[in-house]
Amino acid sequence: MEKIVSLCKRRGFIFQSSEIYGGLNGVWDYGPLGVELKNNLKQYWWQVTVRDRDDVVGLDGAILTHPAVLKASGHVDTFTDPMVDCRTCKARLRADQLAEKNGAKQCPNCGGKDLTEARPFNLMFQTQMGASADPASIAYLRPETAQSIFVQFKNVLDVSRKKLPFGIAQIGKAFRNEINPRNFTFRSREFEQMELEYFCRPEQGMDLLAYWLKERIKFYEEIGISRKRLHILDVPEKERAFYSKGTFDIEYEFPFGRQELEGVAYRTDYDLQQHIKASGKSLDYFDEETKERFVPHVVEPSAGVDRTVLALICDAYDEDSAPDEKGKMETRIVMRFHPRMAPIKCAIFPLLRNKEPLVAKAREVQALLRPHINVFYDEGGAIGRRYRRQDEIGTPFGVTIDFETLGEKGEEVRDTVTLRDRDSMKQERVAIKDLPQIISTKIR
Ligand code: ATP
Repeated sequence: MEKIVSLCKRRGFIFQSSEIYGGLNGVWDYGPLGVELKNNLKQYWWQVTVRDRDDVVGLDGAILTHPAVLKASGHVDTFTDPMVDCRTCKARLRADQLAEKNGAKQCPNCGGKDLTEARPFNLMFQTQMGASADPASIAYLRPETAQSIFVQFKNVLDVSRKKLPFGIAQIGKAFRNEINPRNFTFRSREFEQMELEYFCRPEQGMDLLAYWLKERIKFYEEIGISRKRLHILDVPEKERAFYSKGTFDIEYEFPFGRQELEGVAYRTDYDLQQHIKASGKSLDYFDEETKERFVPHVVEPSAGVDRTVLALICDAYDEDSAPDEKGKMETRIVMRFHPRMAPIKCAIFPLLRNKEPLVAKAREVQALLRPHINVFYDEGGAIGRRYRRQDEIGTPFGVTIDFETLGEKGEEVRDTVTLRDRDSMKQERVAIKDLPQIISTKIR
């Protein structure tokens, strides 16, 4: 994990937020490469979850949330983690995550065993809306994106004219005042979720739970996460929310242990019923064919953007060996991102920076590829070193413009370049005009 955290900072994937002021605990900023990776992930999720389907529409709800919404959902009263204080070092700790030694719970900071009783700590961030500070002006930063979907269910149903089963999807920020943010971005206080609420008839719930679990596993495979590091936990009844008839956690083997990436839960009609009761408004569905009116049930695949980005980074990290400029073997760090997720798809290198025709041609290739994919132009340093820099950030393709390209080694290779593959390090010579097609096919 240390190597990964260090690479993330060194190459601009993830920085500690407010770092120059000592950092804000549990909050992270994504650097130039991190934001590309994160956007690729979110766009792909949106593509397969919303745009590729006839039965799902999108929503972008507000972060600031009316307290009545979160009162009805149960978050105001019960969205808590058990907290204890260590009397020795004053650390605040999450009671259910403490290691035990000789049957007694122990503080991970100082090893002390003098801990207070556990008490519930509400994880929501509260804020004040408007200029007056009375209790009526309280609002919350949403702790999950799901609630705006439930609250807008009727509006979306009316405008989209969807028939059951259908879903509403959302990607957005969520905030939880975690007692112990830890394991890099894994447990953050500000994070992003990709959630789908898939509404259905009650009798379809269990089948759709199995269907969405399968779909979601497929998704992780499609973004390049190895199946052998993914695990499915069938959450036992006593650990599920009381209203859930079935919940699966999709877990990933992080370097710090097996941990949840996503929860796929059959939540029955609990959420809509809660909002019906609290708002007094009808959030039901009229089935034109059977002439029945009822409250739909819902299956919810709820994934974390940041946790998936972290899994992508952990899964991609690899070390092998490659020859340096003198042919001596050296360790190569290579991020084996799936080309679909890679922040930069293709790097463009003029063989020499001080040969104007090479540079001009390389700029031409850059202009040709730019409308199709994210490219990076680099003319600095020996070519081997430039390849290495791209391997370390997971760029799947490298194009080198050399003297053959200029036609100096024969007309038959004029306007061809070498296309290098990150994983095999093999190079093939291809025509410049074919590059957009060749690379686009490989990254889709
Ligand atoms: P955990 O048990 O790890 O706290 P959870 O079961 O409370 O997670 P859910 O409420 O099911 O999480 O949220 C759905 C998804 O949102 C999680 O699977 C995870 O990917 C993401 N998520 C939740 N809390 C955090 C967090 N503090 N930091 C980053 N991602 C989070």
